[in-house]
Amino acid sequence: MSNPHDAPLLELRNLTKTYGTGENATRVLKGLDLSLPRGGMIALLGVSGSGKSTLLNILGTLLRPTSGEFTMLGQDLFHADDATLTDFRNRHIGFVFQFHNLLPDFTALENVIFPTAVRDGVERAEVRRRGAELLDIVGLSDRIDFRASKLSGGQKQRVAVARALMNKPELILADEPTGNLDSKSAQQVMDLIKTVNEREKTTFLISTHDEGIAAQCESRVEIRDGRIS
Ligand code: ADP
Ligand code: MG
Repeated sequence: MSNPHDAPLLELRNLTKTYGTGENATRVLKGLDLSLPRGGMIALLGVSGSGKSTLLNILGTLLRPTSGEFTMLGQDLFHADDATLTDFRNRHIGFVFQFHNLLPDFTALENVIFPTAVRDGVERAEVRRRGAELLDIVGLSDRIDFRASKLSGGQKQRVAVARALMNKPELILADEPTGNLDSKSAQQVMDLIKTVNEREKTTFLISTHDEGIAAQCESRVEIRDGRIS
């Protein structure tokens, strides 16, 4: 009997992305197929310029593909309107970027809860409680009230992971999350991702060109020539 939980988290079929038009057209994704399992921890490899960030931005519904099929959690996201995509993103997707994008003058806790608080319009006690709990999970309970500018690079990236977890997303897209860190901090961030993946069953797709990072993931996909190879 088919179990709905066996269904993949998301599927792309024959997906293409072309930037620009005419003479300026750059074809980046050229008929890409991808299926991600629920709860996986997957490395996304590919040389610089191969389209890793393009793919992550499409999966994060921040960028529209040119053609193809895109479904996540059973929903057709290729044909969805902007309001639907925004709502979907807020509910189901978290982001961790290479550059943490924290607000330097805000505290660690404020950075974690800021996107949620802004959206809900009020900063409720429950939101603060969840933010503090997440900072504890990422090992920064003693840095809750530190300004982001006073944290190390690795600590900032751990705050960024906590921020991504705020809305309990099914999927976290991490674009070279360790690319800007020394090897020890990079390992701490990977250990954290593993812990979250196991505990919360959050699916992680992690772009990297570091084989050592990829080796710590459960599986890997590689973009080559606009397709998954
Ligand atoms: P990666 O993350 O693997 O380094 P990207 O997805 O950033 O690759 O870029 C893939 C290709 O798309 C590159 O050739 C890049 O120059 C091009 N590209 C990325 N963003 C844009 C854009 N907004 N407009 C035009 N070309 C772009
Ligand atoms: Mg990139």
